[in-house]
Amino acid sequence: MKQVSILGATGSIGQNTIDLIRRAPGQFNVVALTGGRNIAQLAADAMALGAKVAVTAHDALLPELRAALAGSTVEVAAGSAALIEAASRPADWVMSAIVGAAGLPPGLAALGQGATLALANKESLVTAGPLLMQTARANEARILPVDSEHSAIFQAMVGEDADAVSRVIITASGGAFRDWPLADLARATVAEASSHPNWAMGQRITIDSASMFNKALEMIEAREFFGFDPEQIEVLVHPESVVHALVGFVDGGLMAHVGPPDMRHAIGYALHWPQRQALPVAALDLAAIGTLNFRAPDPARYPALRLARDVMEMRGLSGAVFNAAKERALDRFIAGHIGFWEMNEVVEEVLTRLTGDPAEMNAALTLDCVSRMDHLARQSVDQVVSERNS
Ligand code: NAD
Ligand code: MG
Repeated sequence: MKQVSILGATGSIGQNTIDLIRRAPGQFNVVALTGGRNIAQLAADAMALGAKVAVTAHDALLPELRAALAGSTVEVAAGSAALIEAASRPADWVMSAIVGAAGLPPGLAALGQGATLALANKESLVTAGPLLMQTARANEARILPVDSEHSAIFQAMVGEDADAVSRVIITASGGAFRDWPLADLARATVAEASSHPNWAMGQRITIDSASMFNKALEMIEAREFFGFDPEQIEVLVHPESVVHALVGFVDGGLMAHVGPPDMRHAIGYALHWPQRQALPVAALDLAAIGTLNFRAPDPARYPALRLARDVMEMRGLSGAVFNAAKERALDRFIAGHIGFWEMNEVVEEVLTRLTGDPAEMNAALTLDCVSRMDHLARQSVDQVVSERNS
């Protein structure tokens, strides 16, 4: 039996992972489940799956978790140190599905104990790609991509020589506002930005899809995970969301990965890898879809893609700045302090302010210096927002 843990078990990716584990009885033993505020879900899943330990990220919610699991054999714990401890418990496979840079320390801990890390948490690669990849190498641990585009690239490259790859194309649905007049984006609301045309996901990544910050993170993720050069990474808007990525080879051929927009495909591929197993994913009816559309993203509509190119060139700590500034700008948008379009301007301003010193940007990546830069970038967002609002 494979020993598995799920970090961020109560979220969209976490729940889809649990769904697949339930459908494969006798194949998996659950070690740790972690969550945030949804204690009822965390406790119910921990009991149903027979987890050894359940952890909430919030210290204050420990009594509630303890009460919910009273009389069961599930251990309980809370807080960021407990998350790391849970991720460090021996397991063969750990799903990294916490949202945001908070996923980095537990992800590193899982790699540190040699587990295969199924990586949905793209923010950890954007924030500290070289550190994550180096930790995997040092512990002979493997990272398997779960982001649908990166799973698609990974699958299209099976059996291929990496040197024969000339380009990769990541597709983007275009998000909630792809057909809105550009001038209307400034007054787009949180509710409008939180509905995705094709995918059902957590709120934060859904808004990031509307702004294309999600695709910006994914370009950096592709660079850090596969080692592609920035100019090899292209983005196409593909409203049908059935071609997840294409890999181009030196002979001009393109291998596309095609499937319905259902994250259980990418999660299931990582869960059962290197085998393939039947998954509860609908068969794609291409005749019913009829036409597949592709178009180049409009740079005026999606400034985040240009910022991603800058970060891919700078590397070092610029990824930590970019990701944290994006996360904090998103917090401020959700709280109603800045408009949708302003997120672009605020993140760009913070990148300009904090990435000017090449020596500092290229300091060796340690968790401490990454955390410090993450903190500075969030502070800088608050500074920029207060300057704009004063
Ligand atoms: P979500 O918001 O639905 O769930 C996030 C999970 O993380 C929850 O369990 C929550 O309790 C936990 N969490 C939140 N903040 C935390 C913190 N500070 N410390 C510890 N735990 C915390 O998010 P999601 O949509 O499932 O996305 C999870 C990750 O997967 C993100 O990195 C996202 O970019 C990535 N991803 C998601 C999808 C998708 O379809 N949802 C697709 C590709 C990649
Ligand atoms: Mg994706």
